[in-house]
Amino acid sequence: MKKYQNYIGGKYVDPVKAQWMDTVDPYTGQAWAQIPRSDAADVDLAVTAASRALKEGPWAKMTATERGKIMLRLSDLVVKNADRLAEIEVRDNGKLIAEMRGQVNYHAEWWRYFGGLCDKVEGRVMPIDKPDIFAFTRQEPVGVVGALTAWNSPLLFVAWKCAAAIAAGCTLVVKPSEFASASTLEYADLTREAGFPDGVFNVVTGLGQEAGSALVDHPGVAKITFTGSDTTGARIYAQAAKTMKRVSLELGGKSPNIVFDDADLDQAASGVISGIFAATGQTCIAGSRLLVQNSIKDKFTERVRALGASARKGNPMKADTNIGPVTTPAQYKKILDYIDIAKSEGARCILGGGPATGPELTGGQFVEPTIFVDVTPQMRIAREEVFGPVLSILGFEDEADAIRMANDTIYGLAAGVWTTNMGRAMRMSQALKAGTVWVNTYRAVSFMMPFGGMKHSGIGRESGLAAIDEYLETKATWISYSTGGPANPFILR
Ligand code: NAD
Repeated sequence: MKKYQNYIGGKYVDPVKAQWMDTVDPYTGQAWAQIPRSDAADVDLAVTAASRALKEGPWAKMTATERGKIMLRLSDLVVKNADRLAEIEVRDNGKLIAEMRGQVNYHAEWWRYFGGLCDKVEGRVMPIDKPDIFAFTRQEPVGVVGALTAWNSPLLFVAWKCAAAIAAGCTLVVKPSEFASASTLEYADLTREAGFPDGVFNVVTGLGQEAGSALVDHPGVAKITFTGSDTTGARIYAQAAKTMKRVSLELGGKSPNIVFDDADLDQAASGVISGIFAATGQTCIAGSRLLVQNSIKDKFTERVRALGASARKGNPMKADTNIGPVTTPAQYKKILDYIDIAKSEGARCILGGGPATGPELTGGQFVEPTIFVDVTPQMRIAREEVFGPVLSILGFEDEADAIRMANDTIYGLAAGVWTTNMGRAMRMSQALKAGTVWVNTYRAVSFMMPFGGMKHSGIGRESGLAAIDEYLETKATWISYSTGGPANPFILR
């Protein structure tokens, strides 16, 4: 069994207390590797290495153009190693190899995009309203960044966070999820091969409440960027306030997929299924609430049910599998609990509704793709994030009704709208309180498109030009060239 080490200061090193923990393949239920169970001492070593790299090492002297070239090299290396990294991710989180191969390859585009952006970060010269002053702003890296990532797409989140942070000139300590750390540890070696100076990119693994919490508390960290649940996000937000850290949070959702009676129903049904059953529902953008216009509710529900029933469950390493295992035992239990809650609240199950069994499903935690009808907006299944393959179907009358129901949630990560009426598409995209609105498509992301949540779904945006601002501080500089003698010291200049 492979025994991993932390990656600190450009070297793989054992954890200080020499403690490791198992990482389990969700498909077999068997441990396949061990990762360091790090604590505050390891985090301190990593933050010290990152601080040194930021202040003293070659990184601090490197031009933005040179930084960008290193990032482009990393992008190429990611593509070269994509198959290997994707297989590690599947072994760790049980997601489909078909999806993870695409994801790791696409991940490379973030390094290309932000590598190109590196030397386009500019300050401004102000036409300042005072005589004999030259006034300008400079954009400076915020400092050492602590990145905490979730288990569902570990390397994609590394790209989303680190490419923007590195482009800004920051250095990083990454603490991946304890359930899926191996790919990030393997990846660290590629940053070395690409030419990242020692200490620029560090990885420390372990439990959230140990290594993760120590990273949030560390006074040497200037900014925390986090992807995970809203409960943990809120805790981190409060904890980070003690050391006045900047914080970006990418959290959960209860996203509505809204289908109008004028939609292309085949396209809509496929979008609804991809929104909730892809990745076994374990995505922050899961379209877990299907809002369907009452005039087509019965026929559309049947179309979605039939398509959902056709999904093949099985080994995530097989190219033709549609639904893999749930990643963690806790998540498996949580999904089954929510199914029971929905039933006890009076929702009617028309597909699945429990654990999935079968010859190919023996070792893993499989849940049947599940659909509930007769769901009311007050039910917990309509309000709380399940993070599993469980769809709630609710009916609406008209546009106003759809908007009211869609926005009746604490979350605001994403929403889907299915309609052939472009006026309606425009009105809906404006009225929905969500960071992303997809019209006639779902689950699309890009390195150039800002992504993030409103309300309880988070703070800040990843991807797109503005993402780099999350890792920059603006410094205002005033240079006086006045020859008029000293100014009055007792008044504001
Ligand atoms: P989680 O909140 O349990 O953990 C996320 C990360 O935080 C992990 O690295 C974990 O070790 C760490 N952590 C946990 N407790 C901590 C603490 N007290 N202090 C510091 N760090 C701590 O989330 P998860 O179960 O790994 O991921 C699932 C959640 O992530 C879902 O809610 C999902 O919606 C959300 N998510 C959001 C996005 C997005 O971009 N908005 C993307 C994927 C997942």
